[in-house]
Order: sequence, then structure tokens, then C-alpha cells
Amino acid sequence: MTPEQDFVMRTIESRDIHFVRFWFTDVLGNMKSFAVSPSELAGAFSEGMGFDGSCISGFGVVEESDMLAFPDASTFQVLPWRPSSNAVARMFCSIRLPEGSAFEGDPRQVLQRMVSRASSLGYVFNVGPELEHYYFRDASGTEVLDRGGYFDLTSLDSGSDLRRDTVLNVENMGIPVEYSHHETGPSQHEIDLRYTDALSMADAVMTYKLVVKEVARSHGVYASFMPKPLEGHPGSGMHVHQSLFSMEGENLFFDPSDALGYRLSDLAKSYIAGLLRYAPEFSLVTNQYVNSYKRLAAGAEAPAYLSWGKNNRSTLVRIPGYRPDSSSACRVELRSPDAAANPYLAFSAMLAAGLAGIEEGLRLPDPIESTNLFAHSHRTLRSKGLEPLPLNLGEAIERFEASQLMRDTLGPYIHQYLVDEKTREWDEYQRHVSRWELDTYLEVL
Ligand code: GLU
Ligand code: MG
Ligand code: MG
Repeated sequence: MTPEQDFVMRTIESRDIHFVRFWFTDVLGNMKSFAVSPSELAGAFSEGMGFDGSCISGFGVVEESDMLAFPDASTFQVLPWRPSSNAVARMFCSIRLPEGSAFEGDPRQVLQRMVSRASSLGYVFNVGPELEHYYFRDASGTEVLDRGGYFDLTSLDSGSDLRRDTVLNVENMGIPVEYSHHETGPSQHEIDLRYTDALSMADAVMTYKLVVKEVARSHGVYASFMPKPLEGHPGSGMHVHQSLFSMEGENLFFDPSDALGYRLSDLAKSYIAGLLRYAPEFSLVTNQYVNSYKRLAAGAEAPAYLSWGKNNRSTLVRIPGYRPDSSSACRVELRSPDAAANPYLAFSAMLAAGLAGIEEGLRLPDPIESTNLFAHSHRTLRSKGLEPLPLNLGEAIERFEASQLMRDTLGPYIHQYLVDEKTREWDEYQRHVSRWELDTYLEVL
């Protein structure tokens, strides 16, 4: 047993823990879990815990569904919202096949693989996501709890208690929160996690989303990370701030002598160029639902064009200007991902794109500084040479399917699974006749 596993065993005794939940995600990023009793843990650490993968989307077919979950002792945490006697803890797991090989449909292992690729090149990939969500009265509709707006703090902000409870619970799970505030939409909120390495952060995002939903439920309301739940109001994004650090903890994106005046190193510039070049190909990963493209189409501070700029909230990549002289604060913010993305795959895809930009020595196009892209027509932007992100799920599937980078990054299994699963969703949506069509056409045609 490793020292970490040994620590888990001792904590289970001292904290009166009765259930240990094994957590992992399916390909789309839905959390899956089963509870194991403490007496089984020693065996689970060495031999894994068997379960039937056939009921999990993207996992095995019925004929070959036996899988093993190996808990990662470094992710052990007690769930603070559960009772303290007969308490409940959790660990994230890696999924293996009975003969011992890693299961290719396990998103966490995709990110582990990408992160170790980065580290073999001397990089630590740090990310800091901003997650937005809405609260609704219940899951059956979109009745909001307040009419508050950006940074509002009044009785309008009935989410304050919810947010406070959420932040406390998230922090009790060992995840530092940097900011929390009311967002622009009615009853829309945002909580920003303090940056850390990508694997810890993907685990934290999964934990965070669960906490938001659990706390909402305990207050009798419903929290949703749906990308665009309300027409006419902003969608819920997951902006991802990112940077490459050296193994020694130096931020390799920071260069105060940058001739462009952005304080960005050449490495950072090629990284951004990679994000811009490959964003259409990884869009299916960062924006994986039909609904994701409604958020991007609406302009409301969500990007639609392959573009970058300092402090420009209409561009795909923004260089935040908060503490320009601080090396640790230097990073790039990718604004297209939404809150419903699978964080393991989304972080893998952006890292792959950035590294490809570095390896291919890609050059950055000119920044967009004084232009608010939301204020211009598609025709004008295209005539200026700006290329759009995929306009809908169908286009995203096409770009993703043809992408060698995505196939190499996610592995052929997940790549094919996403193409098949998303094509099914897109076909179903294409056949659907909507309320809008009836309202627009029925009486006039
Ligand atoms: N809600 C916006 C989005 O969908 C982002 C607003 C902001 O800049 O935080 O991405
Ligand atoms: Mg926001
Ligand atoms: Mg942001």
C-alpha cells in the first residue's frame, strides 16, 4: 500500500466513514458513482472494484462490459454536505479492463496522458475556469429566482445564500474559490476557482458542479449548467484561463519585454495561435450540444470568430489585463467552452491545440483591439478575413471528424464515439419541428 492509500485507510477509521464513493465520468462528462464499503478498500486499491460498464454511455457494449475502477488515493475527500457520523467520502477512479489495460473510453486517462505529454516537454499546464450557471425554481421549467444582474448585491440576489453555501462546501472539499458573483442573466451566477494543474482542476470542476447541484437541491431549487437556457439572456460559459509553467514553477507565458506590449512570450503567442487554428476542430469537445451553439450565436459575450485581443470580451481568446506586471497572473483566456463540457476532454483538447501551435511554430494573426465583434454583421467580419467557429453541432461534428489532432488526442475510441453519438443527436434535432417554425410559418404559408 502506498503512503497515500495508507492515509486514506487511517482517515476512514478516525472520521467514522461508512461509505466511499468511487467517482468517474462517462465520455460526455456525466458523473458516475458507486459506493464501496471501507472493508473492500484495501482490495480495491490493489485489484480494482468490478462494475458493469454497459449501462454507462460511451462505456462497454453488453458483451464486453466488465470493467474495473481503481481509486486514486490522492483524490480522497470527505463529502461535507453529508452527515458527519457514518460519513461519506469520495475518490476519483481510473477505469481498466479485466486484463489490466486502461479503458480507452475513460476521459480522465485522456487528460492524464496529455498532461504527461506536456510534462515530457517540460511544461505544467495550469488552468483556471470560470463556471456560470442558472438557478431555476425546479427542473421542469425556467422560472428564475431573481431579476438581478452583473455583480448585483441586493435583495434581488436571492442566490446569495445559495452561493455562500456552495462556496463553503466547495472549499471544504479542498478547492480554493477565487471569486463568486451574480452574473448578467437573471438568477445567473458565477464562481471562479483558483488556478491549478489541469488534472486536479478537472476533478475540481466535476466536484464543483455536483456541489452546486446538491446545495441547490437542499435549498429546494434547481441549478443548471445548460449552455443557453434562456432566449434573450446570456448563456453559461466556462471560460478557461490557461498557461504553461516550467517544472520549477516559472510562468513560461510571461515576457515583460514583449515587443507587442502584451507581456506575452513567443511560446504563449504560438500557443494562442494553436488555439485559434484548432478551435473549429475541438469545438465539438468544448461545445458538445445542439444548445451550445445557441449560446455562441447570440453574441452575449460569447465568441463566434477565431480572434484574439487584450481585454476584448468579443474575441475567442482574451488576454486579461488585471495585474500586468505579475508573472504568475499572466495567462490567456479561452472564451468559447461552455459549462456543460466534459472538463477532462475540454482541457485535453485545448492543451493539444496549444502544443500543436508551439510545435508547428504557428504565427499569431493581428489582435482585434478596438472592434466589438458583436457589433458587426457576419458579412462584414468575413470580408475582413475573420473565420467563424462552427455555427451549429452539425458543422462541429464535420470539423471534429476530419481532425487528426482530435483523433490523436482523445484516442480513436472516444473520437468515434463522439462522432456517432453527436451525429445521432444532430439528426434527431434536424427532424424536430419547433415552436418557432410553427409560429413563423403556419399562418402565412
Ligand atoms: N455568460 C457569458 C458567456 O456565455 C460570459 C460573460 C462573462 O464575460 O463572464 O460566455
Ligand atoms: Mg462570467
Ligand atoms: Mg471570463
